[in-house]
Amino acid sequence: MTTNSKEVRVRFAPSPTGPLHIGGVRTALYNYLFARKNGGKMLLRIEDTDQNRLVPGAEEYILESLKWVGIEIDEGHGKGGPQAPYRQSERKEIYHEHAERLVKEGKAYYAFDTADELEAMRKRMEEANAPAAQYNSITRLQMKNSLTLSADEVKTRLESGDPYVIRLKVPRKEDIRLNDLIRGWVVVHSSQIDDKVLMKSDGMPTYHLANIVDDHLMGITHVIRGEEWLPSAPLHVLLYRYLGWESTMPQFAHLPLLLKPDGNGKLSKRDADLGGFPIFPLQWTDPASGQVARGFREDGYLSEALVNFLAFLGWNPGTEQELFTLDELIQAFSLENIHKAGARFDIQKAKWFNHEYLRNTPNAELAGTLVEQAAQDGINCSVEKAEKIVSLLKERVSFAHEIYQQSDVFFQAPASYDAAVVTAKWNEDAIRAVTAIKDAFQAGNEAFTAESAKTVIAETLTAAGIKQGKVMQALRLALTGVGAGPDLMITLEIIGKEDAIQRLEKALRELATGN
Ligand code: GLU
Repeated sequence: MTTNSKEVRVRFAPSPTGPLHIGGVRTALYNYLFARKNGGKMLLRIEDTDQNRLVPGAEEYILESLKWVGIEIDEGHGKGGPQAPYRQSERKEIYHEHAERLVKEGKAYYAFDTADELEAMRKRMEEANAPAAQYNSITRLQMKNSLTLSADEVKTRLESGDPYVIRLKVPRKEDIRLNDLIRGWVVVHSSQIDDKVLMKSDGMPTYHLANIVDDHLMGITHVIRGEEWLPSAPLHVLLYRYLGWESTMPQFAHLPLLLKPDGNGKLSKRDADLGGFPIFPLQWTDPASGQVARGFREDGYLSEALVNFLAFLGWNPGTEQELFTLDELIQAFSLENIHKAGARFDIQKAKWFNHEYLRNTPNAELAGTLVEQAAQDGINCSVEKAEKIVSLLKERVSFAHEIYQQSDVFFQAPASYDAAVVTAKWNEDAIRAVTAIKDAFQAGNEAFTAESAKTVIAETLTAAGIKQGKVMQALRLALTGVGAGPDLMITLEIIGKEDAIQRLEKALRELATGN
């Protein structure tokens, strides 16, 4: 090994078979947090040995997603390092060498069976009511492989280029154990494991072989990955043993599943479609079908909010604190606080995190965006006005784009008035109050602020003998067209005196004539 075995080294090892699912982002995040917490290294390896399942653009998508959420790679694909290349399809010879070594040592064998022969075996087993049609310690003796064929025939077949695979010779009766850092002891009997293919007939290794060889050569100390890989872990332990690497075998930590919003079963793309929420970090256009899957980024989530949300899907710090920056997560993170039970995916919680992060975003930043958005619609909004709108609305929304969506009221007089509110609130008192307030605004000379507007309104209504509670909704209706909304005094300050007076006149005109 070229690396210091004491240093924590973890890897994220995605297969570019489609867009990275949010569960994959969580796996990457936990690896990253663990690496940083322990002053270790985070590697990125592209596991692309299943050439039939490769999807164009998926690799770029993975890199862009990691970048967006702020996960930095120390070594690996796109970064380089002592074990380069870090894309498995470029490391074929390495796997080949180790597979051949296993064959020489009697721990693996060549198998020449055709698809038809394998199918025939499956049928025979079925007819004999065998529990599972497996290529294993018993059936291998009836098949065409280097254990049953003569050495000469094997040699001839290999030399003449007969297609073959290399299979692991799994022992017949043995308990295979591993101590998972999250799940504790896992014991599997070797009769449950079939003679897995290590090298395929196309010369590519299978996931299992490539994964173990690379984790070893790359000095990986901890394998942190999704629970769906737990069933493969005993096989991996066996491979470490056969390859003679058991003493430096990494520790395993299998992360809990992400569950559907109702907690029943594994979260799927279908749940996301039905629930109208994303489960991919970035928007993804399927290159074959052209179908577009929504992304957290495009839906308006801040990457910091997504990271915070994902960190809590299967882990918690053991305190009440929920808001954590990436640096704080690094400090707080530990594998001990990862749960065994599946984590229910609750999009409302993701929205809540986004809301919290939006609240803490400086007004100036959000105001800049608002000015630009308004300009695109031909609306001239000053930075000063935009900052006021932002500070008023950001408490009320989950996403930055909702600020502009809800800003209409600050840019133009209402085009219509909510009929239910008109019926309920637009009466003699309301007309009298609105008229008096309009006159008072017109007569006033002081700066028009939320404070001054509030005082003028209070004084005017007292003088007119009208209770505030009875007419405030009508006043809001006249100014905004609806019966509810953000703080009315601040709204007044933002639209300004001139506009406010015009809106009140318009309402008096249009509503008085029964519009
Ligand atoms: N390539 C595997 C995946 O796509 C990696 C599994 C592992 O981390 O061992 O999830």
